[in-house]
Amino acid sequence: MSAQVLQGISVSPGFALAPAVCWHPVAVEIRAEKNTDASKEWSYFQSCLPRVQQQLQDLIKKTAQELSDEEAQIFESQYLFTEDPEILSDLETEIRQNSWKSIWAVEIVFEKYAQMMAAMSDSYLRERALDLRDLKSRLQVALSLGPQALQQDAQALNEKCILIAQDLTPSDFASMDKKKVQGLVLEANQRTSHTVILAKTYGIPTLVGVVQVFEKIKNKDLLALNATRGTLYLNPSDQTKNEIQSLMERDQVEKKELQKYKDQPILNREKEIVHLEANITSVHDLPLAAAQGAEGVGLFRTEFLFLERATAPSEDEQFEIYKKVLQFNPQWPVIIRTLDIGGDKQIPYLNLAKEENPFLGVRGLRLCLRHLDLFKTQLRALLRASSHGKLKIMFPMVTNIEEIQQAQSLIKSLKQELKVTSDFQVGMMVETPASALMIPEFSALVDFVSVGTNDLTQYILAVDRMNSDLADLYQFMNPAVLKTMEKIIQDAKSHDLSVGVCGEMASDPVGAKWLMDHGVRELSMNPNSLLRIRRLLIEE
Ligand code: PEP
Ligand code: MG
Repeated sequence: MSAQVLQGISVSPGFALAPAVCWHPVAVEIRAEKNTDASKEWSYFQSCLPRVQQQLQDLIKKTAQELSDEEAQIFESQYLFTEDPEILSDLETEIRQNSWKSIWAVEIVFEKYAQMMAAMSDSYLRERALDLRDLKSRLQVALSLGPQALQQDAQALNEKCILIAQDLTPSDFASMDKKKVQGLVLEANQRTSHTVILAKTYGIPTLVGVVQVFEKIKNKDLLALNATRGTLYLNPSDQTKNEIQSLMERDQVEKKELQKYKDQPILNREKEIVHLEANITSVHDLPLAAAQGAEGVGLFRTEFLFLERATAPSEDEQFEIYKKVLQFNPQWPVIIRTLDIGGDKQIPYLNLAKEENPFLGVRGLRLCLRHLDLFKTQLRALLRASSHGKLKIMFPMVTNIEEIQQAQSLIKSLKQELKVTSDFQVGMMVETPASALMIPEFSALVDFVSVGTNDLTQYILAVDRMNSDLADLYQFMNPAVLKTMEKIIQDAKSHDLSVGVCGEMASDPVGAKWLMDHGVRELSMNPNSLLRIRRLLIEE
């Protein structure tokens, strides 16, 4: 086995040495097709079923550990359906007597039960329709892969590995056991995709834009990853292995050394304090953020609470989560962003229409204002939690004054309805050219703004943040983006509006320095970048 060196773009630094797991999304073709041997087809179905049952048992365990028993219930009920005698007997009839292939038999039987459930008046039973449909897809994937196709099943990663993928959706990544993922290598060149943002939060060394990975790397190939330099070694020599090992050890030492900066304040040229806050995606990120010296939460991306589930979290579930985040450190300001679905974050159970240009489509606040049930549930949970800490509610993807007026009036009426008396702030993201140009007008309607440089860059430059072919044009240091940033900062200052930055520019050494020098005093970033950026800004 000859050694090979592959290059990529580093998006999350660090080192790893582990075998490869190549991950392919599974596309299942679902069509009405007859089988040729009914007994054989039924045996095939029976041989695949235990795989799905095992998968569900793993998910029950993992969800109970990482989240709660209540959330694990979702998979418990799916598991019970796999043992339901009535469902199994119907499946046998469709496969044996009606001679359907098992994928189609699953479609017929599960749709029948899902439609029955969906028509129930009891909301609990209605929601079981979604569980049935989720299980249906899980079974169809297992049937299309076959009982032996374990290597495809990245959710059930058994060993520590470096994960190789063309692209990976945030929802697929969310369902994986991240402790097993020592490194991540993506062929797609997407530096600010939400999967990359998650990988950074988990501190997983990550490279993007590595070309032809699947042609070169096979499952179980040994890989050495230097994600700080952008290099991936396939079948590394002993010398390379030793180098990576010692870099991993040095990395650990550096992480300890950085701790001495944790409580040191950052002062800008005017001797004003610059605050560093954490971007989080779940309650579980909070201890890491605190350990890295965060001074608050500058962005809680709540849409991640809606991924990897069969139904949306209820008002009570959300309330408990927001309360926990607010109570974690009552001194911390906590910016909780309302749902920002759309773009690269899709949630199957919401059954949203497919769009030609999802990043220019029904996204963020636009989507919430069109799905008031979803939005009001979240706002109610937020308002109820507001007495537990320093809450700042923030709306994403704003383009119009009317959108903010509508959102504010919803908050006002819910506040009355729930008799909320606690104080909280309401702000918005500035991530569209329209909102960047209208800061004076918005300043009358919100308490603060936070600039989302990830989206702002793509919209100012007309460069899709997910398009690998345009990665070289996607630069937040582009003068057009910087000019826009200057205007936002100046307009916010002259209208007494607090302005922070929570896009990836804040965690980039050059970007963070530029922002501090231009008067931004609140930078929010993935917890793993906090100490390096603090050291840099202190030592500058
Ligand atoms: C941004 O656009 O910069 C941002 C912080 O939001 P997201 O990356 O979640 O779109
Ligand atoms: Mg954004």
